[in-house]
Amino acid sequence: MAAPKVAVVGAGVIGLSTALCIAETCPSCSVTVLSDQFSPNTTSDVAAGMLIPHTYPGTPIHVQKQWFTETFAYLFAISNSAEASEAGIHLVSGWQVFKTTPKEELPFWSDVVLGFRPMSEAELQKFPQHRFGQAFTTLKCDCPPYLLWLEKRLKASGVQMYTRKVADLWDLHSEYNIVVNCAGIGAHQLVGDEKLFPVRGQVLKVHAPWVKNFIRDGDGLTYIYPGIRRVTLGGTREKESWSLSPDPSTTKDIFDRCCSLEPSLRGAQDIKVKVGLRPSRWCVRLQREVLSQGGVKLPVVHNYGHGAGGFSVHRGTAKEAAHLVGECLAALQGSSSRAKL
Ligand code: FAD
Repeated sequence: MAAPKVAVVGAGVIGLSTALCIAETCPSCSVTVLSDQFSPNTTSDVAAGMLIPHTYPGTPIHVQKQWFTETFAYLFAISNSAEASEAGIHLVSGWQVFKTTPKEELPFWSDVVLGFRPMSEAELQKFPQHRFGQAFTTLKCDCPPYLLWLEKRLKASGVQMYTRKVADLWDLHSEYNIVVNCAGIGAHQLVGDEKLFPVRGQVLKVHAPWVKNFIRDGDGLTYIYPGIRRVTLGGTREKESWSLSPDPSTTKDIFDRCCSLEPSLRGAQDIKVKVGLRPSRWCVRLQREVLSQGGVKLPVVHNYGHGAGGFSVHRGTAKEAAHLVGECLAALQGSSSRAKL
């Protein structure tokens, strides 16, 4: 058969990394990214981009750990290369602090990040309202530069990218052999997934170059994540809220909470407010499906629903989605050679 045509719908971190993995693992395919928005207008642009996993209750922990391990290894190699600054990837050390000792003192990802250990009494003196803490080094993506770097890699691999809103995946059946759905929260409408819901997040991106360590309250609600150019201050987790408008009283609340963890932030300047909708689900939807109408079939691979942890697991889920695309291809090639017999 001629070069199989694969369309990836979505240009957030999931769509771009999935398209890249498909181009890398299946060089015979012609890959196209179709998306109604590209960077800087995606949820992925709003994210802090810290590699600290969020737990998906419906996905086995060993699978989540594998996705995180693969993502960490991939970004660690970039952070250790000449590409690091352009890709916006860097190591960052800091603390996760708790007001009471958590039930789970060792999270499943503790041996993937670097140097994970309980904080010393001396370190805890920095946080007089907290009794327990964990120190470690992880990776952070500066999101818009990382998305642009992925787009550059895709162009270099011959992947086409077009602005297009897809109303129905079936609309692509006459142009493409396989469709990959990486529409994030857009999948709620695109495939009518009622299990997918938004968790609104408001963050502040501030200029405070003296802040070098990350600080995260153990409940994950208040965090200070220094990037290469700006520090992300968060946040909120508002289930089922679809509003993309910043709320000024929330901005003040986030700023005050972050200043109580790091008082020097009172001197932060150039405060920009961003809002994003986390595409949340009981588990990431990573599976094959075959759409069919009047005897015509369209293989689809879904890869969406990464909630609060898309950056932390994107490379692992992209690899798995590319593997599922390989299975679809094998099935297509099998049926086209049977048809010739
Ligand atoms: P998106 O980035 O939303 O991309 C979806 C793409 O699909 C877009 O390009 C959109 O235009 C396109 N699309 C949708 N519908 C259609 C359609 N019908 N036709 C064509 N195109 C369509 N994760 C971490 O791991 N670490 C963090 O520190 C972190 N911090 C976060 C902070 C905040 C405030 C928020 C909101 C999220 C954070 N996340 C974090 C989560 C992370 O941002 C998401 O998990 C991730 O961005 C999801 O990526 P995505 O590509 O699935 O979605």
